[in-house]
Amino acid sequence: MDTAEPQFKEYAIEEFTVRGEPYYRPVGDELELFTGAYNQRIPVLLKGPTGCGKTRFVEYMAWKLGRPLTVVREHDGPSPLPNGSGNGEVAVPLVTIACHEDLTASDLVGRYLLDADGTRWIDGPMTRAVKAGAILYLDEVVEARKDTTVLIHPLTDHRRILPVEKRGSIIEADDSFLLCISYNPHYQSAIKDLKQSTRQRFVAIEFDYPPPEIEAEIIQRESGCSAAQAESLAKLAVKVRNLRDEGLEEGASTRLLIYVGRLMTEGIAARRACQAALVWNLTDELELQRSLEELVTAVF
Ligand code: ADP
Repeated sequence: MDTAEPQFKEYAIEEFTVRGEPYYRPVGDELELFTGAYNQRIPVLLKGPTGCGKTRFVEYMAWKLGRPLTVVREHDGPSPLPNGSGNGEVAVPLVTIACHEDLTASDLVGRYLLDADGTRWIDGPMTRAVKAGAILYLDEVVEARKDTTVLIHPLTDHRRILPVEKRGSIIEADDSFLLCISYNPHYQSAIKDLKQSTRQRFVAIEFDYPPPEIEAEIIQRESGCSAAQAESLAKLAVKVRNLRDEGLEEGASTRLLIYVGRLMTEGIAARRACQAALVWNLTDELELQRSLEELVTAVF
């Protein structure tokens, strides 16, 4: 029995519900693909570089796939309830877990805790998601320990069950439950690659940095900078991403460009904002930093 101190705070599943419509700018047919997969309850794999919109997309889909909320009143039968999204629906609960190398199956499923009243069981986030019919989003899934595969497989085939080994029980997933995982193909080494036996259980949706016109729109909207600044940042991003051929490990993410835009919105000069939020955090190599700064000066 595991009697270690609790390592996670316990939240009610409702706290994971997306409130209000998240801003998501579609780039291709990802909305249709995800909706189709969700309706068929086929697990979804989101592939793509860091900071290109995968998490925001899942949040948006959880809101979009919200189901009508009805409440039975004593005399007048079922009636819709007003709620966060304002359109007579509530979002599907969303449980997001950033996977890391110490994340074990027990962290996901749950553990026994010893407190003043004795031993009690606490459901982990995966168990809560399965019971609540949530979308469970395992971000960077290949980072998690191998033992998590034992949980993913029975949840992603016709069984849709979660084995809770420590309790000797099995939980059937709620009808609304869907597993969604993400991974960044750039990061993978042979050891950490997603196994065929796992990846062939998912529908894959490929993400990449949005084309410059769309990325400018996103940067402007998310950072509050001017349209001209956002356009220049999107242009800069294309050039920076080309440096990957010269040894830059990963191109500038949309997230970083938004950071630059936000610094600019605070009145920080464009070149300085790029240095702090784009050049220095992308690489420590002086040569590459110099190349990046040249690109910045060519644009701003
Ligand atoms: P990932 O999960 O791929 O690492 P995120 O979803 O966290 O990346 O995206 C980083 C940020 O970029 C988001 O917080 C959001 O501000 C912005 N973003 C990226 N793509 C989009 C998009 N298509 N629509 C709206 N915002 C986006």
